[in-house]
Amino acid sequence: MLTSIKDRSVIVTGASKGIGKGIAKVFAAQGAKVMLAARGEADLKATTDELNAAGGTCECRTCDVSDWESVQALVNDTAETFGGLDVMCANAGIFPQTKMVSMDPSEWDHVMSVNLKSAFLCVKATIPHFEKAGKGRIVLTSSITGPMTGFPGWTHYGASKAGQLGFLKTAAMEMSRYNTTVNAVMPGNIATEGLHDLGQDYVDAMIAAIPIKRLGEVADIGNAALFLASDEAGFITGQTIVVDGGQTIPESVEAIADI
Ligand code: NAP
Repeated sequence: MLTSIKDRSVIVTGASKGIGKGIAKVFAAQGAKVMLAARGEADLKATTDELNAAGGTCECRTCDVSDWESVQALVNDTAETFGGLDVMCANAGIFPQTKMVSMDPSEWDHVMSVNLKSAFLCVKATIPHFEKAGKGRIVLTSSITGPMTGFPGWTHYGASKAGQLGFLKTAAMEMSRYNTTVNAVMPGNIATEGLHDLGQDYVDAMIAAIPIKRLGEVADIGNAALFLASDEAGFITGQTIVVDGGQTIPESVEAIADI
């Protein structure tokens, strides 16, 4: 049993749907005060209303995680609204699938900005608040794609997700000054709106490649984030947890066919 995080102040970016919504739901169910952030106001409001109807204490703010002023406003506003900040879940990300041969260089820059630069902005913006509180928790949503695996169409995405882990090592060192841990969850294939947009053929191929024989659920990532945000995880920093149903284990197609 983990020490309760009831009444702690938590930001989740990319929380209007998918994994971010799942993380927000897990924290809200534990009694945390959750600030949901994304760009699209209608979906964000609908998700916030849904979590509050289920007993949560949630608020929402629109934010573009690739924009410094927007991230700073989100973080400062959350601290003011909830009376401080305890946890930052920097989860928002995009995964357009484009092979290099047809990728415009501007698409590369955009993915890096939303997925990688945002990690730096989300961590940087917390510093005054975690310094004031004397403690803090940061959980990034990385991926198996990039750090561990490759997939055609995701050179930019894979580089951004591996880049997050490079960032995390030094960020964990710098943030230790504020008694703040920085860790990452590395999801495999999780059932989200974004994943289903990739098509049924993609989904079927992924399920076939997962020893546990299902896509992950958003709560699987939320529970890992909750652990990393707990008091009990206070001596874990600069680390990652792979949550992929075993997808990165098999050495060959035959190995998975045989189970
Ligand atoms: P999703 O279903 O497409 O949801 C993405 C969320 O991020 C939405 O709330 C979206 O809302 C928000 N968002 C996108 N761009 C943003 C921006 N510039 N600023 C603020 N919010 C933004 O995606 P998902 O599948 O849940 O993925 C979430 C994270 O998990 C990503 O970092 C992704 O790389 C990672 N991940 C996912 C999987 C998977 O299997 N699903 C696997 C590995 C890693 P708006 O568009 O309204 O802003």
